[in-house]
Amino acid sequence: MEKMILNGEIRNRSEIKMELEDRGYQFGDGVYEVIRIYNGKLFTSEMHLTRLIESASKISINIPYTVGEIEAQLKDLVAENEITFGTVYMQFTRGVSPRNHAFPSTDVTPVYVAYTKEVPYNGALKPGAKAITIEDIRWLRCDIKSLNLLGNILAKQKAAEAGCFEAIQHRDNMVTEGSSSNISIIVNGELKTHPATNLILNGITRQVMLKICKDLGVSYQEEVFTLEDLMAADEVIMTSTTAEIMPITAIDGQSIGSGEPGTVTRQIQQAFHAEIERQCGHVIESIVK
Ligand code: PMP
Repeated sequence: MEKMILNGEIRNRSEIKMELEDRGYQFGDGVYEVIRIYNGKLFTSEMHLTRLIESASKISINIPYTVGEIEAQLKDLVAENEITFGTVYMQFTRGVSPRNHAFPSTDVTPVYVAYTKEVPYNGALKPGAKAITIEDIRWLRCDIKSLNLLGNILAKQKAAEAGCFEAIQHRDNMVTEGSSSNISIIVNGELKTHPATNLILNGITRQVMLKICKDLGVSYQEEVFTLEDLMAADEVIMTSTTAEIMPITAIDGQSIGSGEPGTVTRQIQQAFHAEIERQCGHVIESIVK
């Protein structure tokens, strides 16, 4: 029987009912995280849960648990559901209250759910993917990992309709990030990525990648770059928890660099895989039930 977490307790998923007037359902009034599971272990969970609590606090939702408490609950859930490779999704909404835009009274408590999903994994380096470019129409607090994802959804749908994997967004010709990923470029062996401002989500994969660059001696700059810089780059890299380190080899129908994953991207992918194995143990083969 599949289990999930409801407000800190592990329960049977089939027995959980959500409320109509949950503010997450009606307003997207909440925050979420997705954490990867490799070899039954949570990857970079402390960074994800710290960001979760920060996102919540930016919209005045008080999460009544510490990072360690949530982590322990998630570990129990992963074990109960016997997930070897997959993800755990969690969200906190502001709570249940009669519909009204302004916050409910302070005695309304957040609603917290988490559930797992199996994702096959074999450690193979991701091949190149295609992307489109699209205007970034989202609000100005993209640093908050909010449940409000309409702008991101509309962008991703455009990519899907074009047969592409990702939509790379730009504001006033400046590249911000993907619809569900961060975007970096490699020019003359140097990596450039948008600074962690209010205009992007400071991705955990992005942060791990920057640490890898430091370790590998790949110099990097957290600097804004243009659409022209993107199209003329030697390599383009998309990073996210689910896509990991993914080479983008064509944008708007035009090849990037040689049209194959570049050497710096490959180096970073290998180092990222090594980091997974360092934190979660050796990945031998994908186990799909
Ligand atoms: N930006 C956006 C808009 C995202 O939705 C995501 C995926 N959560 C990312 C960046 C990448 O973040 P992470 O590496 O933490 O998954």
